Amino acid sequence: MSLHSLDPRAPWVISTHDLGRRPGSMRTLSPVLPAPADLAVGMIGVPKDADVELDIRLEAVMEGVLVTGTAQTPLTGECSRCLDPLTSEIEVDFQELYFYSAEDAAEDDLLLDGELLDLEPVFRDAVVLALPLSPVCGEDCPGLCAECGIRLAEAGPDHRHETIDARWATLQGLVVEQEDDQEG
Ligand SMILES: [Zn+2]
Ligand SMILES: [Zn+2]
Repeated sequence: MSLHSLDPRAPWVISTHDLGRRPGSMRTLSPVLPAPADLAVGMIGVPKDADVELDIRLEAVMEGVLVTGTAQTPLTGECSRCLDPLTSEIEVDFQELYFYSAEDAAEDDLLLDGELLDLEPVFRDAVVLALPLSPVCGEDCPGLCAECGIRLAEAGPDHRHETIDARWATLQGLVVEQEDDQEG
C-alpha cells in the first residue's frame, strides 16, 4: 500500500473523474496502452511498448472504485524445448478494488490518488501469473537431441546416434587395463 503521487500523463494512470463518487455509477473504456518495461518471467514476456488492448469497467462502490477488465497482449520469448524465438499472445482477466481512503484498506490494497488510479501493477500481476513456465513454439515441438543438441525438427525423425554396446564397452575397458599392466 504505497501512495506516491501519480502522473496523470502516464499511460497506465486512469482518471475516474467521470464516475464521481456515487456508488453504482459505472464507466467502460477500451484503451490500447504501451506495455511497461521488464514484464517477463523466465523465457517469455511482454515486449516493452507493445500494444496492450484493454477492456475495462470502472464501478464506484462505497469504499472506492472497482476495476474489472481483460487485457490482450503480445508475447515474445524462447521455446523451452528447441530454444527458437517465438511469439504468441495471451489474454488475462483482472479485478481490483482501489480504495478512496487508507483507513479502509489493508496493507496490500491499492489506493486512489485523488481521482487517479494506476492500472499497471494490476496488469503486471495478472500477466506474471498467466505466463507459461515452459513456453513452446508448438505443442508438437520435438526439441533438441539430447546427444548432440541439434534441432530435431530440422534433423528429421531418423536422427539417432550409434550407442556403443554395453559388452563392447567393457571389453574396451579390459584392453586399456592390460596395456597399463604391461607398462608397469
Ligand atoms: Zn520449439
Ligand atoms: Zn543428435
